[in-house]
Amino acid sequence: YYHDNTIIYLNGAFVKAAEATTDYYSQSLHYGYAVFEGIRSYQTAGGETKIFKAKEHYDRLKNSALALNMPYSWDTNELIEATYAVLEKNNLQNAYIRPVIYAPANMSFNPNNESYIMIAAWEMGLFLGEKLLRVMTSSFQRPNPKGFRIEAKASGHYVNSILASQEAKAKGFDEALLTDMNGFVAEGPGANVFFEKNGKLVTPATGNILPGITRATVMEICTELNIPVEERLFTTDELKQADAAFFCGTAAEVIGWQSLDEAVFPANWNDTLSRKIQLAYKERVTAAALVREK
Ligand code: PMP
Repeated sequence: YYHDNTIIYLNGAFVKAAEATTDYYSQSLHYGYAVFEGIRSYQTAGGETKIFKAKEHYDRLKNSALALNMPYSWDTNELIEATYAVLEKNNLQNAYIRPVIYAPANMSFNPNNESYIMIAAWEMGLFLGEKLLRVMTSSFQRPNPKGFRIEAKASGHYVNSILASQEAKAKGFDEALLTDMNGFVAEGPGANVFFEKNGKLVTPATGNILPGITRATVMEICTELNIPVEERLFTTDELKQADAAFFCGTAAEVIGWQSLDEAVFPANWNDTLSRKIQLAYKERVTAAALVREK
């Protein structure tokens, strides 16, 4: 992730990652009380490096912090500028960007008067690779939305993601699929899910999932391509009857599935609408016409 000369943004300053320090008494380290984002930049077709949907990501970061009662006083435009500076200082084009908002030293559960921010970036390939995935229904369910702010991208939620992902890999699968507390399909450990059946796409409704920015982009693409999309609850049994399925997320982009548990998806991936969406996504994130937000 970093080497001797890597620069991060830390509370208003650009510092060497290898020399940056944090507080071992931080409430974030002990209790998972922090929020973060996962953002990507791309070298666009015009040659310029642009952060995809920077404003949407920093708006979600702020909303995540506020949902957890963390003080948040940063300006989105300034953070976007700082992020471009991190990319430039590290000579990164196609990068994964990781801002984290974390808490000061506090071993109680009481609120804090301030929060801290760190922004790191590194080059990263596709999170789930490029091959069709063998997916396993996890024995872990997503956190109960009545016990968490499930719409927030909170660090502590990712203990659930780590458990599910490790279980799937230990059993020889590529990735996990988690259900919600009622047994309906929710999402992957770090990506949203869609399935395709008879020329239509279906994705879980919001409420028990992280409302993904890639999920929203996929729905925009569907509108453009005249592909109908339904947002609703469904079971893994229904999903196993689909023609095709995919995960989508900033780090994963759009990645198709080969199978869920024992069920192999019958459509040839290259012939699916899902594949069209995968290609359209790639085109969109690298489009020369993308505005550089600030
Ligand atoms: N669900 C979870 C649990 C995630 O961690 C992610 C990745 N941020 C997503 C969905 C997809 O969100 P996005 O498209 O905004 O990256």
